[in-house]
Amino acid sequence: MKYVIIGGVAGGATTAARLRRNDESAEIIMFERGDYISYANCGLPYYLGGTIKDREDLFVQTPEKFYDSLHIDVRVQSEVTAINRDEKSIMVRDLIKDRQYRESYDKLVLSPGAMAVRPPIPGIGSDGIFTLRNVPDTDQIKSFIDTHKPSRVIIVGAGFIGLEMAENLHIQGVFVTIVEMADQVMNILDYEMAAEVHQHLKTKNVEFYLNDGVDSFERENNLLNVKLKSGRILQTDMVILSIGVRPENELAKKAGLEIGKTNGIVVNRFMQTNDPDIYALGDVIEFENPISGTTGIIPLAGPANKQGRIVADNLVYGNTKSYPGTIATGIAKVFDLTVASTGLPEKALKRLNIPYKAFVIHASDHAGYYPGAIPMTIKVVFAPRTGKLLGAQIVGYRGVDKRIDLFATIIGMNGTIWDLQNIEHAYAPPFSSAKDPVNIAGFVAENIFDGKSTHIHWCDLAETHDETGLSSKYTFLDVRTLEENKQGTIPGSIHIPHTELRERIHEIPRDKPIVIFCAAGLRAYLAERVLMQMDFHEVYNLSGGYQTYSQVSLKQSNEDIYEGYYIGKDDAIYQSPLNEK
Ligand code: FAD
Repeated sequence: MKYVIIGGVAGGATTAARLRRNDESAEIIMFERGDYISYANCGLPYYLGGTIKDREDLFVQTPEKFYDSLHIDVRVQSEVTAINRDEKSIMVRDLIKDRQYRESYDKLVLSPGAMAVRPPIPGIGSDGIFTLRNVPDTDQIKSFIDTHKPSRVIIVGAGFIGLEMAENLHIQGVFVTIVEMADQVMNILDYEMAAEVHQHLKTKNVEFYLNDGVDSFERENNLLNVKLKSGRILQTDMVILSIGVRPENELAKKAGLEIGKTNGIVVNRFMQTNDPDIYALGDVIEFENPISGTTGIIPLAGPANKQGRIVADNLVYGNTKSYPGTIATGIAKVFDLTVASTGLPEKALKRLNIPYKAFVIHASDHAGYYPGAIPMTIKVVFAPRTGKLLGAQIVGYRGVDKRIDLFATIIGMNGTIWDLQNIEHAYAPPFSSAKDPVNIAGFVAENIFDGKSTHIHWCDLAETHDETGLSSKYTFLDVRTLEENKQGTIPGSIHIPHTELRERIHEIPRDKPIVIFCAAGLRAYLAERVLMQMDFHEVYNLSGGYQTYSQVSLKQSNEDIYEGYYIGKDDAIYQSPLNEK
């Protein structure tokens, strides 16, 4: 059997290696357009930031090692330019010898990945504007940094890669400005979770513009002028564009393979395209989300690697293994924070009209009495009728990774909020509490499910305060201590610490629904139970407490801190009079 694989990194190399382990007698050829195979794309930002010091550490495999250990014929600098399905052959351009040749296949695997989006913005071809996708991109950025010693960078797009680059350039002393078209960073998060990231970025002296995009780039001597849609003109030494990727689907399209609505190659659950002799995997495919049933591309390394094993097994043993789809579990280090999510965010459920209940809690990474406990914020969404877990997001400092993996495991197994309660975790004070944050999330979810607690969200309260700062719709009840109350509270709220509630219950008016809040939600829940059992009819617990409410209420972007020094005659803001048009 002759297997031909297009693309030699995450999906392609995994498939090739597994194929060999499955079939010692097969002929396996892997074509890679670039110089390198099986390298650590996920590590590229950390090499640029200096955390990974040795460039060689990025290369997990070399063509030589691949041949020596697996007897796989790896052809780098070899771009596949066409697939002839009738003939079962491909055309290859050898980029070293500058020649074309034909190669036949019995079975073909496509893992060509995705390319960075570069929209046709005027001036986008100027020097100093980079995308980060592969090793040559990395080398170019590194060489620019070493040669030009930039003092300012603008990162366009605040997704995973954009924020990783923000951190890695910041730690090298480069002043970072982020420009993001949406009203928040990391669109996989819901707004209140992203608000924590915004406030953290402010503490790191990262400048960021939300709700703004790039209108044009213009190089002027050594600097780049970046004109934003708002009219602001920012000056910088370099730009990193990280506004997303799109599947490398051209080959497949030309070969008449089915391409879906999100531009990914359509595959069945065996990872087979509409041509039974061609399989596809990785960033180039689109697949059904097991929670929502909608299709989309999920450009993540974990799914690509796991799909590689399935493809290889199905190729050798027949279609025996099904891919269950990915619930898009992802994690990123954003300066001191760890930001992670799995399943669907609330905004996606809303958009898709999928019924849900949502709540936010704050819980410590380990027992509070053991020194150094730090809280993390957890948002959970679940189905209101069945308790099925639909998604979770966590922002915190320590222990976020293991909790998100627990949520992902439960979601991946179609689990419920009760499964969260029953997770048995390893506990000793330095690592967790007897009730881990995931268990607590399960308990809170059950209270909501059973109607013992009704959560209300910051966004439900956005319109309730009038211009005097008071709410005609709700009575706000702050049950925190006096010290906490003095440091800030919701305007117009009544303050009764939860320990005094029973004696002072007569002070709470009964004419309006009551929104109870504490710092994180627990004391508000205790108060909620007291009030509900004392015949207060409409009582709500402010989800995530004052902590979440205050983070969201703060200004989210910070252009006001660093904004231009100079307003030009055309009323645009410039960072220097020299840039005025
Ligand atoms: P790739 O690994 O991109 O491999 C595709 C290869 O195919 C490329 O090398 C390309 O040159 C080659 N190719 C394309 N067309 C042809 C052709 N016609 N002929 C020959 N060769 C061709 N994911 C995570 O889960 N976590 C992370 O932390 C993370 N960080 C990332 C950081 C960066 C900077 C980048 C760029 C990606 C990151 N990813 C991360 C995403 C992850 O790397 C991808 O999801 C994964 O590599 C996809 O695997 P793939 O095989 O589909 O594509």
